[in-house]
Amino acid sequence: MKRITIAIDGHSSCGKSTMAKDLAREIGYVYIDTGAMYRAVTLFALRAGLVSEAGIDEANLRRRMGDIAISFRLNTETGRPDTYLGDECVEREIRSLEVSQHVSRVAALAFVREAMVDQQRLMGKAKGVIMDGRDIGTVVFPDAELKVFVTASAAIRAQRRYDELRAKGEECDYDEILHNVEERDRIDSTREISPLRQAPDAIVLDNSHLSIEEQKQWLLEQYRRVAGEE
Ligand code: C5P
Repeated sequence: MKRITIAIDGHSSCGKSTMAKDLAREIGYVYIDTGAMYRAVTLFALRAGLVSEAGIDEANLRRRMGDIAISFRLNTETGRPDTYLGDECVEREIRSLEVSQHVSRVAALAFVREAMVDQQRLMGKAKGVIMDGRDIGTVVFPDAELKVFVTASAAIRAQRRYDELRAKGEECDYDEILHNVEERDRIDSTREISPLRQAPDAIVLDNSHLSIEEQKQWLLEQYRRVAGEE
């Protein structure tokens, strides 16, 4: 099998990362969750008081970008990579509703995208990588050999996110989550820079009625088909 780049884009909370992580583990590829990178920037900005309901202090966030060191380290217990901000594991903190409520506005800023895209290209340079996000097949790796665009209805995505948070023991409200999912779709699809778009050569996967196992099999078949080609 040749080593390829796999780009998985799509709407919020539609299970992109679950299928991408599972495939990476199965085929020995590096998995990069680019949403986690935008979430880590948002967490940093929230803690520094640069993001609030009132808006974003863009000038100071731009000035502090050099202080934001994001990395992924393998968690030997879960077999999956955890997101680090400096030396702190922030895997749990970046998934909070507070971060979710601000991340799309932070991710719409040109200087934030430029910094993240540069890092993502470096991380994926050697191929053998699965990257998930919103602009991987269109902007970060337009030459990726396999591009998948994942979607599902907003109500199903909100329900999955609700179940996930409840399973972690977090208090949450379904309507608030649904609103957040719809709002992030709207901001991600209408922003000026790198809006969420299906690449013309992406394969669409609507997983509204697929189980995690079915999705996993589907993605493995796509990988074998593309990587097995001479
Ligand atoms: O994938 P996840 O839902 O964790 O991403 C969080 C947010 O980060 C998205 O709603 C989107 O605003 C932003 N994002 C992005 N470009 C990416 C990945 C995520 O703008 N490549």
